[in-house]
This record gives sequence, structure tokens and C-alpha cells, in this order.
Amino acid sequence: MNDTIAAIATPPGRGGVGIVRVSGPNTKNICLGITGNLPTPRFANYTVFKNSNHTQIDQGLCIFFVGPKSFTGEDVLELHAHGGPVILDMLLRRVLELGARIARAGEFSERAFLNNKMDLLQVEAVAELINASSEQAAMAATRSLQGDFSKLINSLVESLIRLRLYVEAAIDFPEEEINFLADAHITDSLHALHSQVINIYAQAQQGVLLSEGVNAVIVGRPNAGKSTLLNALTGEDTAIVTPIAGTTRDTIRAQINLDGVLVNIVDTAGLRETDDIVEQHGIARAVQAMALADLVLLVVDATNEKVTNPWVLYPDLKHQIKNHTKVVLIYNKIDQLGVDPYIECHENYITVAISAHLKVGIDVLRDQIKKIVGVTQSADNGLFLARRRHLDALNRARNSLEIGKQQLEYNAAGELLAEELKQAQQALSEITGQFTSDDLLGRIFSEFCIGK
Ligand code: GDP
Repeated sequence: MNDTIAAIATPPGRGGVGIVRVSGPNTKNICLGITGNLPTPRFANYTVFKNSNHTQIDQGLCIFFVGPKSFTGEDVLELHAHGGPVILDMLLRRVLELGARIARAGEFSERAFLNNKMDLLQVEAVAELINASSEQAAMAATRSLQGDFSKLINSLVESLIRLRLYVEAAIDFPEEEINFLADAHITDSLHALHSQVINIYAQAQQGVLLSEGVNAVIVGRPNAGKSTLLNALTGEDTAIVTPIAGTTRDTIRAQINLDGVLVNIVDTAGLRETDDIVEQHGIARAVQAMALADLVLLVVDATNEKVTNPWVLYPDLKHQIKNHTKVVLIYNKIDQLGVDPYIECHENYITVAISAHLKVGIDVLRDQIKKIVGVTQSADNGLFLARRRHLDALNRARNSLEIGKQQLEYNAAGELLAEELKQAQQALSEITGQFTSDDLLGRIFSEFCIGK
């Protein structure tokens, strides 16, 4: 971090204003070189931006932040010029000439993290806020950015450390003969920690849903009306609809926003035996998509077949989906049967009768999808944005606590419990970034765009 980095911070293209951002030890000199003076920190200064031969590149606002009171914690300069790509390129070139290098993707945020301006959860929240695809997701990201999620994790880590110290002290003074199992403080704390992890996991799961969306897949026999359903759900002609079986040979992807919940839908090739090699590939992809799905929409042509449940229709379905995947059996083409749309709830699936073609019952289906995958808490209810890596870390922490509990109950093994507590603590510290490998950091920051 001894060098100074620079990048165009506004998106590519033309706009009223474009910003070049600079951070690092050489920022002051760059500001002097380009504007001829150093403005009062944190005040907008209307100025001229000049080239090395003193010709004017543009005029605009210059804001100088003295570290550590800045986004990155270093000296930071923002040059607000007119938002044209040529102007911004010239300005950036001049900044580089004066002693900066182009920033890597996410490098401003990385410096903010390394200088303790933000923890990893907050850094990720910035990315999520920028990428948010719904108002709820944006509000949840803001909550994470304000530190709501970090506070939960930090208080959990503190409780874990307290318990660890207690257990380790007991191990270090064996003459006191502490009976680990009989010590209510240990068992109670373990129990409390375990339920807290489970609660936070459930909240984080909702957060992941908001940020990454739900993966849904539409499957069924050729001509059941899968593509028509996709079009009805998205409200666009996303998929090609024809009466010729096997039209959708590959997978088609679309996204719908169900009151803030993003649903990533894949329309697949019809599931049937076929000799067509292209269609065979399409079917293989359908099976792959099912393996990843949170929700399977199984479409049946109700004029053709009356199935009692999805497993009768597709005995393989059970093996092709994950345990927690929800299944909706959709009776399509009810217009031809003269039936009104309806819903039937069964133990492990729901039936919805619709006409995809006439868009009858689509609202009912949307409501059901929302209910099945739905964000149970409203965004005003303290939901924060989370990622799958947070779920993974929380899961590891939960496992360690469970193993630790067993070590205590069955073996009265204090040392082994202490070791599991340490593992749990490390897993949780990965979430906020107190304990992270360079590898993980590299992966997180590389997802950012330049200038962030
Ligand atoms: P896919 O092969 O499963 O994707 O089926 P398509 O969406 O291509 O539809 C096959 C045929 O069924 C097309 O001719 C559609 O117009 C027709 N179809 C789809 N949904 C309905 C429906 O709800 N009612 C009626 N009457 N026809 C439908």
C-alpha cells in the first residue's frame, strides 16, 4: 500500500459528471500538479484541471480527503469532471503521469478493509448495494453496511471467546478438578451459542435469498407449455413457443422480481427419450439445472395426463433434486378443460392449475412461489444481506459447537471442547474478515469493479 492508485469511479459511457478517484501517499502532489493548489479538506472546490503543459483539460470540482478520514483511510482525491470518456481518460492519464498507477478491481475497498475502515461484511455490502436488483435488497445491503450483521457476528464471537477462556482456564488448573459436564455455566453457554448460530443462520439464509435470488427450473414433457409459462411469468417473449415438440433444446434463463425476491428461472428442454443429439444435450442440462434448483416447476399438459403426484410422473425426480428443493406441480392448459385455476397443498409439493397461454392463474402461481421461497421477514424487519460464504462459515461454526457438545457429554473431554470452540471462533471470524486467508480476500475483491 506504498503506492498511489487511481481509477475512473463512474460507470463507462457518457454522463453529466464523471469522477476520477485517487488514493495513496502521493495524492497531495497529484492534486497540486493537476489543480495548482490544495483545497480545504472535505470541501468542494471549483477548479481547473490542467495538463503538464498547463493547457486546460476540463474544469470541475475537486475534493480532497486527508487520511484517515476518508473512504480508504489514506489521502483521497476526487476529481469531478464532465462525464465523457475522452475527458476522463485524459484526466486519468494526467493523474498517472503525476505518480499513480491504475487500481485493480476492488482495490479502493481492499484498502478500506486493510486500514480498518470497514470489515469484510461491510465491504461486501457496498458491492451488494451497487448490484442490488430490488429496493428490499438495497435496504438490506444498507443495513449490513451500517454494521447490523457485523454486530451480531461480533457479539457471538465475544461470547465464544469468553467460553473458550473459561474452558481453557479449567484445563490449565486441573488440581481444581472441574467437572466439565457438571458445570452448568459451560453447558448453558454452549446451548445458548448453538441456538444463536442457528438463528443467525436462518436470518442469513433470508439475506442470501434477497441478494442472490432463488434458482427455479421449469421442467416437463415436450409441449406441456414450459416456454409459454416462462413467457407468462416474465411478461416477455423470452422463450420461443411452437407446437413442435422439442423446440427448447438448450436452457433459457430469465429473471423475475417477485415483490423484491429475485427468481432466476431456467426453462429446460423437455424431459423425454430422444435420438436427437442436440436435444439429448439439452435434456442433460435440464437434469443439471434441477440438481442446482431451489424450486422445481413441473409442468403437465392437463388435457393429456392426470397425474396424482410428481414422483409418479418422474420417478427419477427425487434423486435429481436437492433435499430442500420445493416442487410445484403445474396443471397447464385448463382453458381446454373449462376449469378455473386452483391450488392444492400436499405434504411435499403443491399443485397449481393454470392456463399459461391465457395467463389465467399466473398470479396465483406467483403468490405461491413467493410463499414457498418467500422472504418471511419484511425488509423493514431488520433483514441484512448475506452471501453463501457466510452461510458456509455459520454452518461450520454450528458443526464445531455440536461436536464440542458431544465431546463434553460423552467423553467429558475439555481439551477437545476447547479445540472445537477455537474452530467455531475461526469460522465466524472469517465472516467479518478478522481471520481470513489471502486467497479468500483475493476472491472477494476480484468480484468488484475497477474504481470501487
Ligand atoms: P414446451 O415444449 O413445454 O415449452 O411447450 P410450449 O410452451 O412450446 O407450448 C406447446 C404448445 O402448447 C404451444 O402450441 C402452446 O401455444 C400451447 N400451450 C401452452 N400453454 C397452453 C395453455 O395454457 N392452453 C392452451 N390451450 N395451449 C397452450
